[in-house]
Amino acid sequence: MRKKLTSFLCAIALFLSTAGYLPQNTFRIQDGITASAENAEDFGYNVFEESVTILSYFGTNKSVDIPSQIEGKPVTRIERDAFNYNCENLISITIPDTVTSIGMAAFAGCKSLTSLEIPDSVTSIDIYAFSGCTSLKSIKISDSITSIGKNTFYNCRSLTNITIPDSVKSIGEYAFCNCASLTGITIPDGVTSIDQYTFSSCSNLTSITIPDSVTNISYYAFYNCESLKSITIPESVTSIGDGAFAGCTNLASITIPDSVTIISYLSFYGCTSLTSIMIPNSVKSIYSCAFSGCTSLTRITIPDSVNSIGEYAFCDCASLTGITIPDGVTSIGDRAFYNCTNLTSVTISYGVKYIGVYAFSECMRLTNITIPDGVERLEISIFDKCENLTSIEIPNSVTTICDDAFFQCTRLTDVYYIGTPAEWESINIQKNGNDSLFNAKIHFTGHKHVLTAVPANAATCEEGGNPTYWYCNICDKYFSDEKGFNETTKRRITLPPKGHTWSEPTYTWSDDNNTCTASCICVNDETHVETETVEAEIRIIEEATCSHMGKTSYIAKFNNSKFETQRKINSEIPKTHHTWGEWNVTTPATEEEEGVQTRICKECGETETRQIPKLEKQPDLYIYAETETVCSKDSDEATTITINRITDDAKTFENFKNVEIDGKVVSSENYTAKAGSLILTFKPEFLKTLSDGEHIVKVNFTDGDAELKLRVSETSEYVLGDVSGDGKITITDITKVAAHVKGKKLLTKEQQKRADVNRDNKLTITDITKIAAHVKGKKLLK
Ligand SMILES: [Zn+2]
Ligand SMILES: [Zn+2]
Ligand SMILES: [Zn+2]
Repeated sequence: MRKKLTSFLCAIALFLSTAGYLPQNTFRIQDGITASAENAEDFGYNVFEESVTILSYFGTNKSVDIPSQIEGKPVTRIERDAFNYNCENLISITIPDTVTSIGMAAFAGCKSLTSLEIPDSVTSIDIYAFSGCTSLKSIKISDSITSIGKNTFYNCRSLTNITIPDSVKSIGEYAFCNCASLTGITIPDGVTSIDQYTFSSCSNLTSITIPDSVTNISYYAFYNCESLKSITIPESVTSIGDGAFAGCTNLASITIPDSVTIISYLSFYGCTSLTSIMIPNSVKSIYSCAFSGCTSLTRITIPDSVNSIGEYAFCDCASLTGITIPDGVTSIGDRAFYNCTNLTSVTISYGVKYIGVYAFSECMRLTNITIPDGVERLEISIFDKCENLTSIEIPNSVTTICDDAFFQCTRLTDVYYIGTPAEWESINIQKNGNDSLFNAKIHFTGHKHVLTAVPANAATCEEGGNPTYWYCNICDKYFSDEKGFNETTKRRITLPPKGHTWSEPTYTWSDDNNTCTASCICVNDETHVETETVEAEIRIIEEATCSHMGKTSYIAKFNNSKFETQRKINSEIPKTHHTWGEWNVTTPATEEEEGVQTRICKECGETETRQIPKLEKQPDLYIYAETETVCSKDSDEATTITINRITDDAKTFENFKNVEIDGKVVSSENYTAKAGSLILTFKPEFLKTLSDGEHIVKVNFTDGDAELKLRVSETSEYVLGDVSGDGKITITDITKVAAHVKGKKLLTKEQQKRADVNRDNKLTITDITKIAAHVKGKKLLK
């Protein structure tokens, strides 16, 4: 079964409504009314109160002057159909300025009438007034007229000269329809609507000015204005009716304002000179046949606002080479692109769910097409006679492929099916006229992509990034769109790291110049920093001395190749201390006095001195048990002294050499020396040889000596309490007794005898007290 449909259906509608209508009149003159005025006999009239109405004309003249008065009363109205009959030969008519109104069809059918002047007294012209005045070339319309009724100048096909006065605010339907000689017209401001067929078939109309008071252009308003080349529709217009510009075969330029939401049925049907048109983004629908037969249309952009494309919308657009159906469109009507014989590029966005029958039929140059996911049926003859179609992509949303869908698609070789073989098998492919499809190779992509969006991630200095992409983990493919139409590659979605962009390095020396730190910052991200601190190589160029500053160079060599070796010279190394020689002792120190030592700077000769502290006194190695002793010449007692060695007392006797008294060595015959420390006992006869008074006894050892005072007195009498033997009792005596009592320093026997002031043969605190009382003068000793 094969159905053959054509694209002419839409044209048929045009002819149903274009025929103008001429009223057939059944009006009769009333009985009993007579014309009695001058040439009034040619007129049928009616006198009503104070005015006359012309009802008809009976004369045979080619020229007629309508009287201004009949029966002395002014003629004020030309009644309905007054000249409609029996006026075919009238060439000229003069209307007097008493007339204020012209009735319906009053001059209709005055085929020979060539010109007419309507006096300013006329304020109203009824419908059809001049329709069919086929010879009327010019007419002057009264400035008092506010509306031009419907069909007023219908079929005035000779009318070339007409000015619509500014007083006119409305123009009725068909008013100028078929005024084939009219070349230009200005619609006065204030008119709000251009009614149906108003200027249709004005086949010589080349220019028309539409004021911006117009909001509506009704259907077929400019239908068949074959000479109209361009038209500007003001922004005020919100609707353009069906077929408004259909058949404007010379229309090459038209501006549609963005107040319009619909491109109506047949709007531009057969506009064969139209090469391009801007559809504003306010348009939601392109109705049936809107651009069909626009054979020169090569470019058209369907805005995103459009959501439906009607049937035949672009049918027979033989010059159209490419079309993109935007996302918003959900359906493409039957035959929408039928017979677009130059259409090579078709992009149908994924919003489309329905594509009508014959939609792309006879698009001879179409080579490939992608049916968007969501379309369920490939309708009858959708690609009928697309002789160059070689490949098509079909989604697995398709459940039915109708008869003749691919009829005579003789070059179809490859079908890319977004689905599995099993899914393909389940499609209801109708058998008739689909041989091409059955002969083509079916490529299966195996599945419908399950896409995961991966948001864009900008590459940083160190890490790569990616643009937004979608990934199907079933086929492991990458796509640049969310529908998975455009496959991309791993390489394309991999943005390499940008790498750092380093600033010029900066170098900072430590205060002592021993280290240098280099650093540079990435201009992309100031937290990216490279830094290195190195110890400087220090080279002394000139040593500093006590008389001049030194010069040192510091060299910092970095391991990081971004950094350059840095050099610094410090020529202000401070003067050094003097270069002193050894200290020389100029005055040696003794145990009693500090010494002095001196040193000299080798560089500048400056001298410096310092004290040498006193020598420390060596403790006596040998000491007496007593510090002094006494003896008297009248005593026969020997005087014994005991000498101890501070250390190693056993050596005291061993190291003993001799004794000197007052610097003269004493013969060993004069004393005895016994071990046990050293106990020296001077013989009494020797002591008697000594002079009275104090003597220095010096005992010499091999490694030291000891000195002691020896007081020699003439008599052994003594003052009780005078322990020291100096002949008086003083605080010294108290001290000596106290030292003895405390066991610190024992007194000699002689001294003990003197100290025992209470004569109890022992020395106690009582003795000290008594001596003290004497010294203080409190209680003198006896
Ligand atoms: Zn996939
Ligand atoms: Zn960086
Ligand atoms: Zn110096």
